[in-house]
Amino acid sequence: MAPAYKRILLKVSGEALAGDNSFGIEPAFLQGIAKQIADVANTGVQIAIVVGGGNIFRGMAGAAEGTDRVTADLMGMLGTMINALALSNAISRQGAKCKPYSAASMPSVADTFTARDAKMALEDGFVVVLGGGTGNPFFTTDTASTLRAIELECDVVLKGTKVDGVYSEDPMKNPNATRYDFVSYDEVIGKNLRVMDTAAFALARDNSMPIIVYALDDAAGLSGVLAGSTRFTRVGK
Ligand code: UDP
Repeated sequence: MAPAYKRILLKVSGEALAGDNSFGIEPAFLQGIAKQIADVANTGVQIAIVVGGGNIFRGMAGAAEGTDRVTADLMGMLGTMINALALSNAISRQGAKCKPYSAASMPSVADTFTARDAKMALEDGFVVVLGGGTGNPFFTTDTASTLRAIELECDVVLKGTKVDGVYSEDPMKNPNATRYDFVSYDEVIGKNLRVMDTAAFALARDNSMPIIVYALDDAAGLSGVLAGSTRFTRVGK
C-alpha cells in the first residue's frame, strides 16, 4: 500500500531527547527515535525534522536570569544544533541517509539551510535534520516546524507529545479533560490549547498546513501514526 504521506515534517522536541532526564541527551531514547525515523524513511517517505533545544537551553529562562533575550535565544538556537547533530548521526547509524542543516551559517558544522537544497536532499532520499529553529530570536522550534513544512511543501506536520492528542484542558492536570479527534486552528488558538504556540498555529492556518499531535511513546510509533493505527488529533480547517 502506498504511504498516506509523501513528505512529512516531524517535530522532535529537546525535552523528548532528554528521555527520563531533565537535561541533555539520553542515548537509549535517541537511538529509539532514530530507529523509528530510519525505518519510516526506508519505506520511501521523505522526512524533514525540526529539533528543539529545551533539553539544553531555553532563551526565556536565560532572559529571566539576566542574559539579554536576543543573546539567550541565540544560545537556545545553538542548543538545537547540538541536538540536530546528535539526531542526524543517530539516524545515519540506523541505516538511513541523513543530513543536518543549520538555519544560521556555520559552514564547518553543517550546510546552511535553504529550502532549495533541503528539497533536493529530500528528493535524493536523505532525511534532513534542521537545527537552529527559524534562525531568529523570539521564535520557537514549533513555529520553525510549520514554517519549514510550508517552505518544503510537506503534506503534514507531526508533533509528538507526552499525550495522545489535543485535549480540552491539560490532561495531566484535569483527568476529565476530553480528547479531540479533530480540532480547528481557530479553536486551538481561541481556547489557547497550548500544544504548540499561537504563532505556529496561525502560520499553519494561513497556509492550510495540517498538524497531527500524537503520543511520542506510543508503541506503534511514527509508522503507526502514518498508517492511521495510532490515536492522534488532527488540527486543520
Ligand atoms: N529559538 C529561537 N528561535 C527559533 C527557535 C528556537 O530563538 O526560531 C531558541 C529559543 O531560545 C528557544 C530555544 O531556542 O527557547 C529552544 O527551542 P524550543 O524552546 O522551541 O525547544 P523545544 O521546547 O522544542 O525543546
